[in-house]
Amino acid sequence: MTILNSTRELQITDAAHHLHPFTNTRELNARGVRVITTGKGVYLHDSEGNKILDGMSGLWCVNVGHGRKDIVDAVAKQLEELTFYNTFFNTTHPPVVALSKLLSEVTPKQFNYFHFTGSGSESNDTIFRLARYYWQLMDKPEKTIFISRRGGYHGSTVASASLGGFGSMHEQGGLPIPGIFHAPPPSWWANGGDLTPDEFGLKVANQTLELIDSIGAHKIAAMIGEPIMGAGGVIIPPKTYWPAVAKGLKERDILFISDEVICGFGRTGEWFGCELMGTEPDFMTMAKGITSGYVPMGCVGVSDRIANVLLEKGGEFAHGYTYSGHPAACAAAIANLEIIRSEKLVDRVRDDIGPYLQSKWKALADHPMVGEAVMEGLIGAFQFTPDKNARSNFADEAKIGLTARDFSFENGLVMRAVGDRMVIAPPLTITHAEVDDLMEKTIKVIDLTYAHVRKNGLIG
Ligand SMILES: *Cc1c(COP(=O)(O)O)cnc(C)c1O
Repeated sequence: MTILNSTRELQITDAAHHLHPFTNTRELNARGVRVITTGKGVYLHDSEGNKILDGMSGLWCVNVGHGRKDIVDAVAKQLEELTFYNTFFNTTHPPVVALSKLLSEVTPKQFNYFHFTGSGSESNDTIFRLARYYWQLMDKPEKTIFISRRGGYHGSTVASASLGGFGSMHEQGGLPIPGIFHAPPPSWWANGGDLTPDEFGLKVANQTLELIDSIGAHKIAAMIGEPIMGAGGVIIPPKTYWPAVAKGLKERDILFISDEVICGFGRTGEWFGCELMGTEPDFMTMAKGITSGYVPMGCVGVSDRIANVLLEKGGEFAHGYTYSGHPAACAAAIANLEIIRSEKLVDRVRDDIGPYLQSKWKALADHPMVGEAVMEGLIGAFQFTPDKNARSNFADEAKIGLTARDFSFENGLVMRAVGDRMVIAPPLTITHAEVDDLMEKTIKVIDLTYAHVRKNGLIG
């Protein structure tokens, strides 16, 4: 194998052979890709020797920080002991048993059964089939429809991308598949107008239930939602929203799926986002933080209500992935959960580092070009606007978010842009000094972006 060394060599070869996810490869190849080479704690290094604070935990996943030796060692040991064996045909192995038990301890009390997958997308496709199968077993085969939300993100496979609410994804490949309806998102800043957040939360919850009733609750299998929308721009719903939606679903005998791929494993200051929102889901989608991204893994939490029916009435669930419960992924997940527990990271996010970052982050809203700055646990966003009072948006062509994202990377901080919303979700292990570094860089990015906007006459 040829070893590529220089940045230029890597860029040229990447441009020639690597089709990137969620990327315009032509544009990327023209500008030259950035090469990330090492990671330790909350910092990354690129091939040019730049040190970058990873404000996005990789892709919302490296909850315990980069390069933790305990996880690396656990994976290596497991690969030596048992590299792979399947869990399909009357067999199991110690790490998948241990992980299943561990998950039953850290998840909400109704979850005692777990089905393993390779990703969040696969988990949602699994739930799509499981929920319909459940209603078949319940002699209600007409309950097939799923409710999800515009702006929700549930993955990139056919069912999960259809559940997701991104028009850009639906346009490619003829999605969504039939039987999925999208309710409005609880985006108070964008759509709340003169309503208080609590009033707006109830309004959107009612719109969701009206959509359900117009379709007919007897035809609806389940609703899926992220406690806090992640890829949709870190939309933290008003406190009234989820309890009202969950109550309406229960009254209508509709299953509730909490997509915890980002919110799970401490991100919000609870083990799972549903606990913060006060909902009691029938299914939970897990991935990302389950292994802190050290090895790919996804998981479906199946509540007692569902599991009991599957076990009592069901036959073979004709579904599974070769790598369902891969030993190395299970070993990574166990070591990761042990770190989260022993370092009390969930409490730390709720009581210490979360509030510390939140107080500084929320103050960004004082800037004339920041419309709102929100954060729950260690997941947050701020919104650029040319006019705070009118809550107006910059023109898409102005590409303010992407410009700010580039300023951020150039100044040693990974922040992601969702339109003109800048989002962060740093590792849960971030220290106070590192938070100070993150804030200093963020303020610099805002100042640079403000100067750019004024220089180009994009603001009054
Ligand atoms: C990332 C994500 C997914 C998809 O997970 P993959 O592992 O990328 O397939 C699903 N749901 C949410 C909320 C996510 O953030």
